[in-house]
Order: sequence, then C-alpha cells, then structure tokens
Amino acid sequence: MSDNGHVVRVDLQSPYDIRIQPGLIDHVGQHVQAVSQAKRVGVVTDTTIAPLYLDRVRASLHTAGIEAVVAIIPAGESHKTLPTLLPVYDTFLSARFERSTPILALGGGVVGDMTGFVAATTLRGVPFIQIPTTLLSMVDASVGGKTGVDHAAGKNLIGAFHQPLAVLIDPAVLHTLPPRELRSGLAECIKHEIIRDADGFALLEQNIAGALHLDIDYLSALIAHNVQIKATVVKADPFEQGERAHLNLGHTFGHAIETVSNYTYTHGESIALGMCAAAYAATQLGLLDDALRLRILRLFTRAELPTSGLTLDVKQIVESMYFDKKVKSGRLRFVLPTQIGQVTLRDDLPRELVEEAIASLTA
Ligand code: NAD
Ligand code: MG
Repeated sequence: MSDNGHVVRVDLQSPYDIRIQPGLIDHVGQHVQAVSQAKRVGVVTDTTIAPLYLDRVRASLHTAGIEAVVAIIPAGESHKTLPTLLPVYDTFLSARFERSTPILALGGGVVGDMTGFVAATTLRGVPFIQIPTTLLSMVDASVGGKTGVDHAAGKNLIGAFHQPLAVLIDPAVLHTLPPRELRSGLAECIKHEIIRDADGFALLEQNIAGALHLDIDYLSALIAHNVQIKATVVKADPFEQGERAHLNLGHTFGHAIETVSNYTYTHGESIALGMCAAAYAATQLGLLDDALRLRILRLFTRAELPTSGLTLDVKQIVESMYFDKKVKSGRLRFVLPTQIGQVTLRDDLPRELVEEAIASLTA
C-alpha cells in the first residue's frame, strides 16, 4: 500500500481485511482475485451509484478476467424491502450462481445491508464483498456483519449476520456524495471518538474543516481509525451483551428524534442531537464536566451538525422513546459520556430528566 493507504484487519470469527485506498475503485478486480478464485461475480448497486461508478468497477473486474452479473435496485431507504430483492434473486439464480460465486455490494448502507442479506440467503450463503460508498457505510456498516431489510413493523427487522470476505473502501468516491450525507457520516465518527478515544477526538477537532472540504488523505486516516474502533468494540462483545451497547451513544434519543421528525433529520443529524441530549443528562447527573459537554457541542457545530433549534414536540419524542423496541422491563438504557473517550451505561434516568434533556435541544 502506498503512503495514503490503510489496511485494518477485522479479527472476528472469520477474519477479513478492510482496505482503504484512494483510487481503489479502479482496482476492485485484483482485490477480488486476492480473496476468491471466481471468474464470475454478482454486483448489486443502486440507480444513483450505477451511472457514477459501475462502469469503472466492471472494467476493473474485466481486466482481472472476471465477469460481472449486475442487479440494479432503486436508491433510497424506502426501497429497503423484501420485494425489491426478488428480481435480484431472479438475476443471480437464473445466471446459475454457485456456492462459491461472490456477491459485491457497491453503494451506501442501504445497498450494503440488502446485498449482504442476498449473499447470506442465496444458496444458503455465498461470499460477500463490500464496496461502501458513503462515509456512514464505510465507518459503520463495514464492521459487524449485520445485514437485512426493513419491514412495515420497523427498520432492519428481517435480516441475518453474514461477515464479508473483504471490504474495499475508496475514499475518493466521497467527492460525489451529497454534503449532507457526508456530515451524517461524520456524526458517527465523532461518536466513535467520544466513546473510545480522546486523542482521536482532538485530532478530529484539528481537522474537521479538512474533512468537510474532502481532504482525502485525512479522510482515509479517519476512516481507518474509525473502523479500528468499531472492530475493537465488536470483537470484545460479539453478541451485544455489554460494551457493544456503547456504540448506541446518542441513538436512544436520536432514533426517537429521527422517527418523530418523519426522517426530515438525517440519521447523523438525529444522533448528533441525541448525543447533545445524552451529554446534558450526564452533566445534570454530575457524571460529565460542563466544559466537556460544551466541547462536544462545539465540534458538532463545526461539523455543521445540529445541537439545538429542535422544534418537534418534546412529549411526543419521550413517548416514542418509551415505546421503542429496545425498552427492557420499562427501563430505558442510556449511554452517557463521562469523559471524552469514555462512556457509561445507565438505566435509572428519571423520566423528568429524559424530558429535560430533550427540552434542552429546543433552545
Ligand atoms: P444510503 O445507502 O441510502 O445512501 C444515501 C444516498 O447517497 C443514496 O441515495 C445513495 O444512492 C447515495 N450515494 C451513496 N454513495 C454515493 C456516492 N459516493 N456519490 C453519490 N451518491 C451516493 O444511506 P447510508 O447513510 O449509506 O446508509 C443508511 C443505511 O445503512 C440504513 O438503512 C441503515 O440501517 C444502514 N446501516 C447499517 C449498518 C450495519 O451495521 N449493517 C450500520 C449503520 C447503518
Ligand atoms: Mg447509527
């Protein structure tokens, strides 16, 4: 790898490498060859990404002597459903895929989750290779092996765990990503630093303008650092019994805000607000210094993510939280920051404090 390339080994039950290298999209073929003997692969992408990157991926596969069987799905979370997948199965099964035929996901988290589910279920499981194209899918969805689709009853309710064979990340594709989607991914990056790495947080403070202006070398390092954090957390708790819950910082508040806003806030914007609410609650409980809370808020502001100005109904958000599927025995579990780089789990927050924390976002 050249100077600006990174490889992170994800050491779970079936270890794999996440390769991060600007320009990698034109070398997909050789990296598929490195992990598979297949002369044919499936590629799933969406209607937004196909015109941008499909030809380059196909050309690089062709150069490596690999034929691509392509399935294109409509872009967007609203299409993350089982019916969207039926023609994808048709394409791959009528092409007589074998157990060893890998399926590649070229796209954001929606394409990644759906393709992973197709790979997990086609012939009871074929190899899966991810080429994530949003910052969020690079730093979050590339580790953990969660795949699936939404159901009318809720998000991601149908799915399977299926680990990829490899993850190929080309940070240069972020050039075409809408800026609001880039900032949404940055919210998850800030989250990773708050839960685990004070030095990483300080580095992000120094480089946030560079990240927003697509300094690709910095983004490459940031992505490598973030997948490393997520991999370490997931490895320590593969079955989500303890510390993996730390990855939910800002998500208990955030999911409710996202839902009540009817998705007018992006996921990243919602969890940024959620992390501000969590920091507020932590300060009120005497767990977090107010100066650190303000430091967290300042980084969100500089990342052009919201920290206030919420106009939604506070009571409705609280109601939504207490109805969420993660409520265990009527008690909500919160991840609260205690330092920058350190969090704690609490399930004893009085409902009044939860309400007050959300109200703090309306200022
Ligand atoms: P997305 O996949 O919907 O992508 C956002 C939009 O950007 C889409 O319209 C897409 O076509 C477009 N796009 C993607 N890459 C682009 C590029 N390089 N240039 C231009 N346009 C581009 O959204 P997302 O934020 O990547 O993913 C959200 C999904 O990921 C959710 O469904 C969520 O459940 C899932 N997710 C999964 C995990 C996991 O562990 N499996 C983790 C986090 C999120
Ligand atoms: Mg998230």
